Amino acid sequence: MAVKRVYTFGNGQAEGKADMKNLLGGKGANLAEMNLIGVPVPPGFTITTDVCIEYNDIGKDAVVDLLKSDVEAAIKNIEALTETSFGDKTNPLLVSVRSGARASMPGMMDTVLNLGLNDDSVAGIAIKSGNERFAWDSYRRFVQMYGDVVLGMKPESKEEIDPFERIMEEVKEQRGVDLDTDLEVEDLKELVKLFKAAVKEQTGHGFPESAWEQLWGAIMAVFDSWNNDRAILYRRMESIPDEWGTAVNVQAMVYGNMGDNSATGVAFTRDAGTGENVFNGEYLINAQGEDVVAGIRTPQQITKEGSLRWAELQGVLEEDRAMMYPSLEEAMPVVYGELNAVQDKLEKHYKDMQDLEFTVQDGKLWLLQTRNGKRTGAAMVKIAMDLYREKVIDDKLALMRVEPNKLDELLHPVFDMDAIGSANELAKGLPASPGAASGQIIFFADEANKYPDTILVRIETSPEDLEGMLVAKGILTARGGMTSHAAVVARGMGKCCVSGAGALKIDYKERVLRIGGNIYKEGDWISLNGSTGKVYDGRVKTRQPDLDGDFASIMDFSAKYTRMNVRTNADTPKDAKTAREFGAEGIGLCRTEHMFFEGERIKTVREMILSSDEKGRRAALDKLLPFQREDFEGILEAMKGYAVTIRLLDPPLHEFVPHTEAAQQEMAKEMGISLAEVKTKVSDLSEFNPMLGHRGCRLGNTYPEITEMQARAIIEAALNLKAKGITTVPEIMVPLIGTVEELKMQSDIIHQTAEIIFAERGDKVEYMVGTMIEIPRAALTADKVAEVAEFFSFGTNDLTQMAFGYSRDDANKFLPIYLEKGILKHDPFQVLDQTGVGQLVEMGTQRGRSTKPDLKVGICGEHGGEPSSVEFCDSVGMNYVSCSPFRVPIARVAAAQANIKKNG
Ligand code: ADP
Ligand code: MG
Ligand code: MG
Repeated sequence: MAVKRVYTFGNGQAEGKADMKNLLGGKGANLAEMNLIGVPVPPGFTITTDVCIEYNDIGKDAVVDLLKSDVEAAIKNIEALTETSFGDKTNPLLVSVRSGARASMPGMMDTVLNLGLNDDSVAGIAIKSGNERFAWDSYRRFVQMYGDVVLGMKPESKEEIDPFERIMEEVKEQRGVDLDTDLEVEDLKELVKLFKAAVKEQTGHGFPESAWEQLWGAIMAVFDSWNNDRAILYRRMESIPDEWGTAVNVQAMVYGNMGDNSATGVAFTRDAGTGENVFNGEYLINAQGEDVVAGIRTPQQITKEGSLRWAELQGVLEEDRAMMYPSLEEAMPVVYGELNAVQDKLEKHYKDMQDLEFTVQDGKLWLLQTRNGKRTGAAMVKIAMDLYREKVIDDKLALMRVEPNKLDELLHPVFDMDAIGSANELAKGLPASPGAASGQIIFFADEANKYPDTILVRIETSPEDLEGMLVAKGILTARGGMTSHAAVVARGMGKCCVSGAGALKIDYKERVLRIGGNIYKEGDWISLNGSTGKVYDGRVKTRQPDLDGDFASIMDFSAKYTRMNVRTNADTPKDAKTAREFGAEGIGLCRTEHMFFEGERIKTVREMILSSDEKGRRAALDKLLPFQREDFEGILEAMKGYAVTIRLLDPPLHEFVPHTEAAQQEMAKEMGISLAEVKTKVSDLSEFNPMLGHRGCRLGNTYPEITEMQARAIIEAALNLKAKGITTVPEIMVPLIGTVEELKMQSDIIHQTAEIIFAERGDKVEYMVGTMIEIPRAALTADKVAEVAEFFSFGTNDLTQMAFGYSRDDANKFLPIYLEKGILKHDPFQVLDQTGVGQLVEMGTQRGRSTKPDLKVGICGEHGGEPSSVEFCDSVGMNYVSCSPFRVPIARVAAAQANIKKNG
C-alpha cells in the first residue's frame, strides 16, 4: 500500500484521531479528534511527521513531488467545505500553515497565517467581507510573518530589531498612534508597501504572489523550523528526540480581526499554576493569532470572576475594567456560553486539564487547538487528585499523570509567613507561576549565570530567553498577562514568575529598574512570590514546604502499586531522617569516608595513612574506631527497622592527605617526623589514574586492619543498639571488586571480626556481607561473585565510567560537545545507558541469581533517582533503587509507574 502522507479533517470528519500523535503531531491529532467529537474546527489537513524526516533526507524538490497530488486534493477538500478557491482573486481561500510535533513545543517552531493573499486577492477579501481594514490588516500580518518565517528575515541576534517591527513603529509614530488597532486602511496599505520593499531589499527577490508558491514555501519553512536553535534547545531541555520531526497543519483561516464582533484567545480548563478547578484565560477583541501572548495589547480575561480578580491585582478601578477590559463573559455572553460548554466537553473527553486556542469570527466560535496543558508541579498533583476525587480517573491513572521529576518543585522552600509580613512590598504583578524566589537582578537572559541566584527582570520575554530563564531562580516581567510567553514557559519549568508588573520601569541600556521612587541596579536583591504576584525588596526568608494532603496521597498510591522499594543514599543521621520523611525504606549507600573528614578526625585518618607500618596504622585506627561506631549508631538508629548498606572505605588515600605546605608541616609536628618525610609519603601516594588505582577493596586487601576496624565499628554499633532494644539490619558492602577472590578475602575478614566481637560480648546480631558491582568484570563473573556475596548493589557511576572508558572527573571537557553533536543522547552519568551499561546490569543480575535465586539486588548510583533508569531497574527485577534524599519521592513514583506500565 502506498504511504499515506496527508490526513484531512473538517466538517465533523477526520482521517486521523487523538491517538495518532506520533504520526500527526499533537496539534494535528487533536484537530482531527475535535472534529470527530463535534467541536467546531476550521477544515484542513495534516502532513505527517514522517514527511519531515523524508524532507531532511531528500530535500525540498523531491518532497514536493511526493506530496503534490495529495496536497492538491486536500486543498480541494477545504475549498469545497468553505466554498472558496485557493489562489482566486475574488473569493480566495486563505490558510494557516502550522507546525506541530508529537510533544507540545509551544512557540518554538513557526506558523504562518493568512497565506494565499496577494495584491489581487486582498481586494477580493475586502469586497467579500465588506471590511477593507480587515483585509489589509490580514495582508500586512501575512507579509510580515512570511518574511520572518519563510524568507528568513527574522533577526538572529537579540541586538537587531525585526525589520517589520521597525517599519511598524515608524509608521505608528508618524501617525501618532500607540496601538496597531488604531492604524487606518491607508496606513496598512502603506505598511504592506514598505514591508514588500524591505523584502526586496533584503532578499533580492520580490514577495511571492502565487498562492501555491507561498504554500510550498511555508510548508518547507515549518519543516525547517524543527531545526531552529530554539527548538533544538527546547528538545534538549525536555529530552525530546531529534528524530521525531514536526507535522505540518494547513488549515482554513478564521478571522478574529474582522471587527468588534471578532476576537481571539487562549484558555485553560483549570488553573495551570495552582491546579484550582476554575476555567480561565485571556482574549482580545479584533485581534489575530499570537496577539494575546505577544504582550502588544493588554489582554482581557475570559470569565467575569477572573476579570475581577485581575483588576484587583492590577489596581484597575471597576468602572475602567467594565469599560475598557470587560471579560468575554460580559462582552460576548453567547460566545462565552458556547466556549464554556466546549471546554467542559474537551476536559471530560481527554480526562485532563486542557489548554485551548480559539477564535471568534463575527460572533461564531472556532477552536484551533487543544492539548493537555502545561502546569506546575503543584498543579500537576492537585489536578490529578481532583480528577481522581471527581471520579474522572482512577488511582492508577492519577499516579500515571504525575511526571516524577516535576515533584522536585514541591520540595522547594516557600516564603516564611512572618518574614513576608514584615518584608517591603515594591510592586504587584500577576501570579504567573507559583513559588518563592530571591535573587540578584539581571536584565539579560544570557547573563543569568552572573550570580549564583538571579532574578531575570525583563519588559517581556521571548523564546530566545529560554536558556537564561532556566538558569534564573525567578522571572519578573513588566508586561504580559497570565498567558504571556514568560508565564507559560515559567509554569512549564515550574519556575517562580511574576508577570505584568506595570509599575516597573526597566532601562536595559543603563541596567536599572525603577519602581516608584526607588532605583534597583543590576546585582541588587529582590524577592518574588509567584503565588501572589508580589515583588519584595531584598531577600526574604524561606521555610520548608508542607508535604501532606495531595502530595501524601500520591505517595500512598505509589506505595500501593510499587514492586521495588526505594532506599536512600545517606551518610548522616540528618539525611537519613529527611529521607525517612520522604518515605525511604532503608539506606542503599552509606559512604564511610565522608565521616573521615569531620572535625579532628581527619588528622587521625592522616596519621593512619602516613604511618610507615601496620603498628602505626593500628594505633591510629584504634582512635578512629569510637567515632565510626558512634556515626553508625546514629545512622542505624535513624533507619531503625530498615536495612542499611554501609560501604567500606572506597576513595584513593591520596584524597585524605594534606596538600599545602602549612598543613604538611602541622602533620609532621603531630606525628613527630620531618616535613621532608611527610612530603615523600604524600608524593608516594600520588597516582597516574587514581580512579583506577589503589582504592576500593584494594585498600582493605592491602591494609586488612582498615576493614577490621570498620567491620568492628559496624557490628559493635548494631550490638549497642540491640542492647537498647533497637533492631537493625546492617549490610556490609565491599566496593570495587573485579574478582570473587577480592571479595572472598574481605568477607573472611568481616566474618572473623564479627565472630570475635560476638564472643567478646556474648551476644549476636544479624548482618550481611555483599558487594558493589561496578567493575565490568564483576558483572561478567557475577555467578562466581554470588557464591560469596549475600547481596549486590550496582554502582552505576563507576560502572558507567568503566564501561564507556570516560573519566567522570574529566568528562566535562567533551560530554557537553558530544551531547550537542548528538553523539550521545543523554549524559550517561545522569541517565543510565540502557543499551550498553544496561546489559552489564541485566547480565550481572541474572548471573548472580543463577547462583543465588533470592539474591537481593539494588542500585546505588546517581541513576537510582532518575525516572527512566528506575523503570529499567524494575524491568531487570531489582529489589530496590537507592537515591539521594530529595529524590526519594521521585523514585517512589517512578518505581510505581514502572510496575503499572509493566503489569497494568
Ligand atoms: P503554536 O504552536 O506556536 O501555538 P499555532 O500553530 O498554534 O502556533 O499558531 C499560532 C497562532 O495562530 C495561534 O494563536 C493560533 O490559534 C492561530 N491560528 C493558527 N491557525 C489559525 C487559523 N486557521 N485561523 C485563525 N487563527 C489561527
Ligand atoms: Mg498554538
Ligand atoms: Mg564506586
